[in-house]
Amino acid sequence: MARPELVTPNGASMGTRAVRTGRHAGREGRITGDPPLPPPSDPLASGVIEGMLVGVLAWAVLSLTLLPALDATASSLFPVLLVSLCASGTVGPGLQAALRQRHQRRLPAGAAPLGRRRVVIVGGGFGGVSVARRLEQLLPRMPGLDVTLVSRSNYLLFTPMLMEVAAGTVGSGHVSVPLRAACPRTRFRQAEVDSIDPAVRLVHVRGVGGALESLPYDHLVLALGAVPNVCDLPGVADNALTLKTLEDARRLRDHVIGRLEQADLEADPRERRRWLTFVVAGGGFAGTEAVAGVFDLVHSVLSYFPNVRRAEPRFVLVHSRERILPELGGRLARYAHRRLQDRGIQLRLGVTVVGASQREVRLSDGEVLPARTLIWAAGTRPSPLLGALPLARQAGAVLVDPTLRVRGSSDMWALGDCARVPDVERGGAPQPPTAQHAERQGKAVAENLVAAMTGKAPQVFRYRGLGFLVPLGHQSAAAEVRGMRFSGLPAWLLWRAVYLWKLPGLEKRLRVLLDWTIELFFPRDIALTAGERRGGPDPSARRRARQPAA
Ligand SMILES: Cc1cc2nc3c(=O)[nH]c(=O)nc-3n(C[C@H](O)[C@H](O)[C@H](O)COP(=O)(O)OP(=O)(O)OC[C@H]3O[C@@H](n4cnc5c(N)ncnc54)[C@H](O)[C@@H]3O)c2cc1C
Repeated sequence: MARPELVTPNGASMGTRAVRTGRHAGREGRITGDPPLPPPSDPLASGVIEGMLVGVLAWAVLSLTLLPALDATASSLFPVLLVSLCASGTVGPGLQAALRQRHQRRLPAGAAPLGRRRVVIVGGGFGGVSVARRLEQLLPRMPGLDVTLVSRSNYLLFTPMLMEVAAGTVGSGHVSVPLRAACPRTRFRQAEVDSIDPAVRLVHVRGVGGALESLPYDHLVLALGAVPNVCDLPGVADNALTLKTLEDARRLRDHVIGRLEQADLEADPRERRRWLTFVVAGGGFAGTEAVAGVFDLVHSVLSYFPNVRRAEPRFVLVHSRERILPELGGRLARYAHRRLQDRGIQLRLGVTVVGASQREVRLSDGEVLPARTLIWAAGTRPSPLLGALPLARQAGAVLVDPTLRVRGSSDMWALGDCARVPDVERGGAPQPPTAQHAERQGKAVAENLVAAMTGKAPQVFRYRGLGFLVPLGHQSAAAEVRGMRFSGLPAWLLWRAVYLWKLPGLEKRLRVLLDWTIELFFPRDIALTAGERRGGPDPSARRRARQPAA
C-alpha cells in the first residue's frame, strides 16, 4: 500500500524518503511561515482573583480550625470572609509577581546560546501542558527553543472535576481549558499521534482533516497518559461505561438520566429495579467518587420521575480488596466506607466483576446483579501507542531514570501516567499516577531538558505529594493533606476550594463557581444530549478494549 505523502509543519511536502533517512527533516521541518505567537495576557485581573481564592481558602481553613476553638458563631464568620477577600485580592497581584520573579531566578543561569532546537511534546494533559508552560518561562533565556505541543483534543481536561460534569453539577465546557490559551507561546497541533520513529527523530501525526504530518525533533517528551483498562472479561468492554474523557462524562450523565426515563415507564417492578441498579467496579478514588456522584445525581432529579420511588434506585460498589480507598489511612477509609453505607450504597468487598451483559453484572463470588449500568473504574494502563516503541517498559509504562529521561535515550523524556517514574525517597517505587505528580514532573522535565541542551547536569526529581482528597457526595469528603486528616463538610469545602484554585484560567474558575452557586438554588438539568438519544452501547469502551495491550 502506498504510504501517504508527508507534510512538514509549514505545509511543504517531505516525501517518504526524506522521512526514512531524516536527511531533510531538520531543514524542511523549520517553521518559517508560522505567524508570531501572541504575547502573554495581562496578569493583574488574574492576580486579584487568584489572591481572592487564596483568601477563601484561608478563610475556610481558619473557620474550621481556629475560630470554632474561639467559639465564633456562623454570623461572625461572614465579616472574616469579607476581610479575607479584600486583603487577599489586594495583595494577590504582588504575590503573583513575586512568585514569577522567583521562577525567573530559578532558571538555569548562564545558559549557552542555543542554535534552533526543536522540542516536541506529545500529549496535552497535565504532564504535557506543565512541560510547555515551564518551557515558555524559560524562553526568554533560550531564544532558539522551538516548542510544539501535539494533542488529540485542543484542551487540557481538568479530570478532578470530571465526575462533577457526569453528575451534572458543572457544565461540560467548564472543566476544559483551551491549550492555545494555556500555552500561548507554544506551537499547537491538534492531531492524533500515529507513530514515533526515534531512529530518525520524527513524530508522525494525523491532523483533524486526516492529513499526515511529520514533526522533526531534537528532544521528544512523551506525555500520552493512560487509557481505561477494561480487562478482557466477557461482555465488560461492550457494556461498561468509563470515565476518562469529556465525552465519557457526558455519556455517563445521559446514561443515568436515560435509565431513569426508562424506569419511569416500566410497569414490571423487577425490570424497573434492573433499570435502576447502578454498579461501579473499583473502590479506589475514581470508583468511590463515581458511585457517590451517581447517587447524588439520581437523588437530586428523582422528583421529576413520579413512578420511581425513593427506595428503588440501588447503588453497588464492587472492590477487589477488603477495604475501599487503599491509598488513604485506615481511619479515613473507614469513614468513607461508613458514609457510603449510611446513604444506602452497598459495598461488595473482596470480589471482582467477572462479566457483564446489557441486563446483568456477574461477580467473582457467583453473585449476579440484575443491572443495566456498569461503570468501570478498576484501573488504567499506559497509552497503547507506547507499545510500538523500542523502549524499556514495565506494565506498559516507559521506564525513566530519576531525572525523567527515558532509560537508554539521550533525547527522549517521559512523565505522568504513561511513565514509571522512580520515587527516590521511597527506594525507587513508582510514583502514583496523579495530576499533582504529572504537573511537578512536567516542570522538572522542562528544566532538565534545557539543562541537557546547554551541557549541564539534569537534576534528580523529588516530590512527595501533598495528599489526597476524595469527594463522597452530599457535601462530604475525605482528605489527607500533609499528614492532616479532614472528613465531612470541612473536607468537602477544602476539596472545592483547592480544586477551584487549581483549575487553570480565571474564566473557567468563575464559570465553575457560578455552576456551584446555581446548583444551590435549582435542581439539576435532566435534558438529554445527542449521545443517549441515539442509544446503543458505549462505543468508546469497546474501542479502547480493542487497542493492543502495551
Ligand atoms: C475521573 C478522574 C479523576 C481524577 N482525579 C484526580 C484528582 O482528583 N487528583 C489527581 O491528582 N489526579 C486525578 N486523576 C488522575 C489524573 O487525571 C492523571 O494522573 C493525570 O491526568 C495524568 O496526566 P498525564 O499528562 O500523564 O495524562 P493525561 O492528563 O491523561 O493527558 C494525556 C494527553 O495525551 C493525549 N493523547 C493520548 N494519546 C494521544 C495520541 N495518540 N495522539 C494525540 N494525543 C494523545 C490525550 O488526549 C491527553 O490530552 C483523575 C483521573 C480521572 C480519570
